[in-house]
Amino acid sequence: MTERKQKYHPRTQLVHGGTTRSQFGELSEAMYLTQGFAYDSAEQAEARFISCPDNEFIYARYGNPTVRMFEDRIAMLEGAEAAFATASGMAAVNAALTAPLKAGDHVVAAKALFGSCLYILEDILPRFGVEVTFVDGTDLGAWEKALRADTKIVFFESVANPTLEMIDVEAVCKLAHDVNATVVVDNVFATPVLSRMLERGADVVVYSATKHIDGQGRCLGGVILGSREFVRGTCETYLKHTGGSMSPFNAWVMLKGLETMDLRVRAQADNAMQIASALQGHEKLETVIYPGLADHPQHDLCKAQMQAGGTVIALVLKGGQAEAFRMLNALDIVTISNNLGDAKSLVTHPSTTTHQRLSDEQRAELGIGDGLVRLSIGLEDAGDLIQDLKNALSAV
Ligand SMILES: *Cc1c(COP(=O)(O)O)cnc(C)c1O
Repeated sequence: MTERKQKYHPRTQLVHGGTTRSQFGELSEAMYLTQGFAYDSAEQAEARFISCPDNEFIYARYGNPTVRMFEDRIAMLEGAEAAFATASGMAAVNAALTAPLKAGDHVVAAKALFGSCLYILEDILPRFGVEVTFVDGTDLGAWEKALRADTKIVFFESVANPTLEMIDVEAVCKLAHDVNATVVVDNVFATPVLSRMLERGADVVVYSATKHIDGQGRCLGGVILGSREFVRGTCETYLKHTGGSMSPFNAWVMLKGLETMDLRVRAQADNAMQIASALQGHEKLETVIYPGLADHPQHDLCKAQMQAGGTVIALVLKGGQAEAFRMLNALDIVTISNNLGDAKSLVTHPSTTTHQRLSDEQRAELGIGDGLVRLSIGLEDAGDLIQDLKNALSAV
């Protein structure tokens, strides 16, 4: 069944891809809530431990039929040979970076990163003798200068959180491949609906499934996609022995989330475009940052690399923290929360929450000022959201 569905378009794959059925022929994907698997004989157990085929299982930390359906479905969407589902987005990022590296290796990463990704690169990897060079991800010259013959991994977010800087994925991959480095992309903000990284030259793509894949704020999850060798060899071996696997229950939620992800992400991006346009030039705002707007510094790259501007908008208020807090506290529909990609529109003040850990200098360098507000646009009526945001801005 997996093979047969490969030829269909993404929206068909998101509904049917990877489905396997038990002897009962259940229509909706079954949730195999089991840690272990019973063997017919001692010989069968022995054989499975020697070599376990894709459709046979040993223990849920290694693999589970519901988790495998989720992995196969998202692998088809992304056009990847293999996928491994993880307990959270950070388990995926950690494994994709830690599993292939050893002391003495060199990594080049963009410096505009999700706080926990930055922690792995800045604090954990150097403790084990890995050298990490950070660059301004939008500066191709800086990538070229930082890459070396011993660079093993290149890491970046295709659209950075929360400043929505975009990276020229094809150009950076080309530079990285010139030194034989493996390119690992965190594609959470761009989503697999709007931009597929492997098609653009990346070797590995990681997602926090917690965001758009679930899309309704229920479960944590993550996934690593890439070649069979990297995912099933390097990462799976590391993850199955260190405990970062996804639970079957969460995999079932994510599997059902994939069925509607294309519709949700496109509707959310459409809402975001309407809202960004409506707020542009507002008297209380310094700028509206949204890759879909013509005045975004990388709007041309957005058009080339993404099918829409995404589901996140950054607003820079005139003033600072006091003005931002007044706006957040005056919102009625848009809820204060640091999640994103949810059906509910959410707002966060990065400098006092998600990026609080950074030094003042780091925040200044990344453009995360006290007036910056991040909006994750949901599925509500765009007119209601625009009215809510305008009301809140008038309270500033
Ligand atoms: C949320 C997020 C993560 C981490 O995902 P979790 O599921 O919360 O562990 C990593 N990268 C980016 C860009 C994110 O937005």
